[in-house]
Amino acid sequence: MKRIAILGSTGSIGTQTLEIVREQRDIEVVALAAGSNIELLEKQIREFHPALAAVWDTQAAGKLRENVKDLDVKISAGMEGLLEVAVHPDSKILVTAIVGMLGIRPTVAAIEAGKAIALANKETLVTAGHIIMPLAKKCGVPILPVDSEHSAIFQSLNGEHGNKIAKILLTASGGPFRGKKREELTDIRVEDALKHPNWSMGRKITIDSSTMVNKGLEVIEAKWLFEVEPDNIQVVVQPQSVIHSMVEFEDGAVIAQLGTPDMRLPIQYALYYPHRRPLSGDRLDFYALKNISFEEPDMTTFRGLALAYEAIARGGNIPTVYNAANERAVAKFLNREIKYLEIAEIIEDCMSCAGFMPEPSIEQILETEKNVYDYIESRW
Ligand code: NDP
Repeated sequence: MKRIAILGSTGSIGTQTLEIVREQRDIEVVALAAGSNIELLEKQIREFHPALAAVWDTQAAGKLRENVKDLDVKISAGMEGLLEVAVHPDSKILVTAIVGMLGIRPTVAAIEAGKAIALANKETLVTAGHIIMPLAKKCGVPILPVDSEHSAIFQSLNGEHGNKIAKILLTASGGPFRGKKREELTDIRVEDALKHPNWSMGRKITIDSSTMVNKGLEVIEAKWLFEVEPDNIQVVVQPQSVIHSMVEFEDGAVIAQLGTPDMRLPIQYALYYPHRRPLSGDRLDFYALKNISFEEPDMTTFRGLALAYEAIARGGNIPTVYNAANERAVAKFLNREIKYLEIAEIIEDCMSCAGFMPEPSIEQILETEKNVYDYIESRW
């Protein structure tokens, strides 16, 4: 029996993780955490019987405690609750499926407690990769990527016995606005940006895909996961989302992982690595597909991607600035407070104004995040 804990069980990745648990029948869920959606969390508690559930919102946690008093489950709240879930003594794997830098502390705690990390929360590596990766190495804990591109790279490295990567080819769908020029994006509405052509995901990441900031975050994530310099991480637009990413080796061989766009596959692969399990769902039909096409990304229109490369090149706390500015700008766009193109403008402005910290500690990362939020609030 595998035993897992999930941070963000009510979200897109969290619920798909639980679909796998439901389908496979040999995983025990020992702890769950969510932000405030206690209705869904209660359903999950009743179905999966974790010993512990945490809710960020203290009031909601109190309400949930009342609602499930007929069950043998402990309800915790706030950061303390997330940390408790992260280090629950019975779990072997922590699925980090919350959004944002909030994931850093629980991920660090779980690594220190010896848990394998099934990592969806890319913001943790983007902002604290220099802390997380050495710590995982020191504690002998695997970081198993859940992001489909990184899982594809991870799968492509199987059996390569440490052969040197020459280049990572990180594929991108190009999002709903692929092929458009900047002038055509001035009046994009929230509804337009939330329509991803291939993947069904949470709202924030769907907007990030449309701006290509998601790809920028993935470039930074790939640098940390696979120790590849950003110059050797090339984004390739592959609109059908069939190739989930590729690795080029020193002899020129390119190994790729292909499949239908279904996040359950990378999630399941992380949970059972190195084993593969049957998985329900569609299969690739190459006769129906006919062709797979490739394009170079347009980094002038999709400035967010170019800014990610700049953020890694500058290093230190600048990827944190990039991520925090994007998080706040996307929230403002979703609230209809700013226009679509302002998302990248805000990131660029924050990156040009931020004070530099070369090797930020977790405290400094969180301080940088706060400074960026305050700056954005004072200007937009
Ligand atoms: P969602 O917005 O769908 O879900 C977020 C989850 O985090 C929810 O369970 C939410 O709870 C919980 N949460 C939010 N705030 C808090 C908080 N303060 N404390 C505790 N829990 C909180 O996000 P996704 O599932 O789309 O994404 C999760 C992560 O995975 C992100 O880092 C994303 O970049 C990454 N990712 C997502 C992919 C996808 O296909 N969706 C693909 C690859 C990576 P509540 O419901 O109560 O608000």
